[in-house]
Order: sequence, then structure tokens, then C-alpha cells
Amino acid sequence: MMIPYSPTDPVENALCVLGIPLDHNSSFKRGAAQAPDRIRQCYASDSSNLWTETGIDLGQLDCLHDAGNVEWASRETAFSAVTSKAKTLLAQNNRLISLGGDHSVTYPIVRAVAKVHPNLNILHLDAHPDLYDNLDNNPHSHASPFARIMEQGYARRLVQAGIRTMNSHQRKQAERFKVEVHEMKDGLEGLSALRFDGPVYLSIDLDCLDPAFAPGVSHHEPGGMTTRQVLDLLHTLDGKIIGGDIVEYNPDRDFISVTGMVAAKFLKEMIGRVYADRQANS
Ligand code: MN
Ligand code: MN
Repeated sequence: MMIPYSPTDPVENALCVLGIPLDHNSSFKRGAAQAPDRIRQCYASDSSNLWTETGIDLGQLDCLHDAGNVEWASRETAFSAVTSKAKTLLAQNNRLISLGGDHSVTYPIVRAVAKVHPNLNILHLDAHPDLYDNLDNNPHSHASPFARIMEQGYARRLVQAGIRTMNSHQRKQAERFKVEVHEMKDGLEGLSALRFDGPVYLSIDLDCLDPAFAPGVSHHEPGGMTTRQVLDLLHTLDGKIIGGDIVEYNPDRDFISVTGMVAAKFLKEMIGRVYADRQANS
């Protein structure tokens, strides 16, 4: 484990990392359920160290807490288990970063986050808009979480970047929900002007990256972001990041953990950013 592991202890004022080993809402390939534990292994790998690029030694960060993996009895109860665990952690004044799992997990997480942060903004990095009303008769598909979130009013603003699979249905959905979509074809220059008032939840689908940078995902969509562009965004975003998730990593397609190390790098820098933003406001 990356950090002192005590899932049964009540923790307060901590920065919690929570694993969600769920991939049954994935439309094309399973495998993302193995992601949380593989990302932890990569995080702790001696091939790197525990310092963020911004100068924080995560190995010395007392408030960092591994909350373990969410468990559930059946597919039908998985989302309520995720929301319940997230609510418990957030009620104790913790910040929460989740490791998916397929992207469907963002809905049950945000449903808990929005209760604590009512004016929530979401920044969503992905090759896909994930706005399907449903996919393959599954309204909780990994291609639908942001339709559910916006229908329920859990985010006052949704900004998407990295998008390169827009279709007519999802374009209609984006208009309906007033989503601010930054498509890859238009370049990433627009992102530098982004400003957020209020809390920001950052959802990183690893397929936002070009498959050259992150081949260990289920959907290889060429023409994506570089690892550096995501890191720069994490470091320089104008807003207060209060938590987020890293999803769609598929260890089954990641033979030497190249993509796992990318996920672990994003986790380190996200922890550093959430920690710094919290310090700046306390
Ligand atoms: Mn996604
Ligand atoms: Mn995606």
C-alpha cells in the first residue's frame, strides 16, 4: 500500500484515495476493475520517488490516507455502495480522489461530492463526451455518466477537453446541458483562458491521452493529448481543485505498466494540487 492503510479508522481532515474496482459498465472491454491496485503498485514503485513536480514530498504528507477499495454485494448495489463510502469520507471533512474503474463510477462519486460542494464545476478530460442518454440499453454505461450528472443538476458547469469522438446525439446532449466542449480538432489554446469560480472536480479518463502516451486503455482513440499537456493543466488551472478521479486504466492492456506509471504520475500531481489548494484556503 502506498500510505498507512486503515480503512476502518475514522479519518478527518485528510486527503483520501479511494479505489473503485468496477468495470461492469464498460461497453467494449473489461479490465478496469484491476486498475486501483495496479496504480497503487506503480505509485509505490522504486523506479520513481514520491515528490510532486511542484515540490511536495508525498512520503511525508501526514494527511494522506488510503481508504482502500469500495466493496459491494451485486451489480445492483455497486453505485449505492460507492456513493455511501464517498459520503462517509466527505462528511469527515476529507478531500477525495478516486481511482476507477470504468468511467461510470464518476456519477455515484459526484452525487456525493455535490452534496458537500453545491456550486460544483467539473473539468472532464476524455477522448469521449460520455453524454449518451444510454448505450446498449445501459443508462449507467461508462459512456453516460455526464448525462446523469447534468440531468440531476450535480454540476453547475461542465467543461470537457480532449474530445475527438463527437457524434450528433452527443452534440445535442452537450447543447441541452450547456456543456463547454473543447474538441481536440480546435487545439488546446482555449484551455489557457479557463477560469473557475468555486470548487472544481477533475475527472481524468486516461484515454484523453493519445494512445502513444497511454496504450493501456480499452478505447484507443488517436489524436489525443500528451502527458505533459495534462500535467501542465493540473499545475496551472485557474481554480480550486477539491478532488477528482482517474478512470479507464486497463491493466490487461498494459504489459509493462507504462500506462500505470502515467496514472500514478497523475495521482501524485493531483494529490499535490488538491493539497496545495486546500492549504491556500485554510
Ligand atoms: Mn470516459
Ligand atoms: Mn474515454
